[in-house]
Amino acid sequence: MPVKSLRIGNKDYDIPDQADLQEIISILMGDNKMPSMSVGNISGYGEYNPKTNAITLSPYGGNTNTLSHELTHALNEHMGWEDLRIWDSRKSSPQEQRFTEAYSKLNPNFSKVPSLAGDDPYRRSATERRAFGVGNHVGGASIYPERPHMDATMATEAAILRDLFKRRK
Ligand SMILES: [Zn+2]
Repeated sequence: MPVKSLRIGNKDYDIPDQADLQEIISILMGDNKMPSMSVGNISGYGEYNPKTNAITLSPYGGNTNTLSHELTHALNEHMGWEDLRIWDSRKSSPQEQRFTEAYSKLNPNFSKVPSLAGDDPYRRSATERRAFGVGNHVGGASIYPERPHMDATMATEAAILRDLFKRRK
């Protein structure tokens, strides 16, 4: 069942029935890793704090793009810890191994896609490019008009990894 809205602060945010976003939410909720969400005064549109698994949205930042971006950070954090847990467990299933193998190739923190000099250094980080890619794919905006493949590539890498992560159990 698609999630239709999320309560953040004192407002209900409409969640579109968009496959990638719904999948992200479904994985996080299914694993009991949905971040807490609130509205606060921050410098950007949104922030994710991995230490507390909390998303803060600016009063102006509650759109689908920002939400998808920050939830992607939350999911990446969750996947990173699962990857470690599986490595440590020493008796992983073939499905878990398939995920850890994919994670080593598509690790959101170490993108293989080359970045070009002159990019905004913030978005040059692999983690941010992945989150911007998903956010722009879901929210329908482009941050990289000079490289039209970038968001699509990042969103596709994220989708492949989510799929194998979902099927690890
Ligand atoms: Zn970010």
